[in-house]
Amino acid sequence: MTLIEISNDFHHTSSRVRVGRMSESNAKRVRNRLCGSAECCCSQSELGTRGPQRTEDGQEIVIEFAGYGVGVDIWLRKPDVMCSDSELAERAAVELS
Ligand SMILES: [Zn+2]
Repeated sequence: MTLIEISNDFHHTSSRVRVGRMSESNAKRVRNRLCGSAECCCSQSELGTRGPQRTEDGQEIVIEFAGYGVGVDIWLRKPDVMCSDSELAERAAVELS
């Protein structure tokens, strides 16, 4: 099983999680570790992450709400699946010219 590190760059906290489905109670535990305050609005993520989430080999870490009572899905997106914003901008510029 793959362990990856997710982080919150506002509180300078991090947590190691497994790729796959995480139970709701575990997700709550991770969220409390990364951003312990219920009042805080630093994170939009189900797991309290903030800032770009990437593995050491550059894959994007995607965190998705799997449903109430179900938990959270964590999966990795290969960097070559999507082109970067600058590549998109370049492409758009070419199409306009
Ligand atoms: Zn916070």
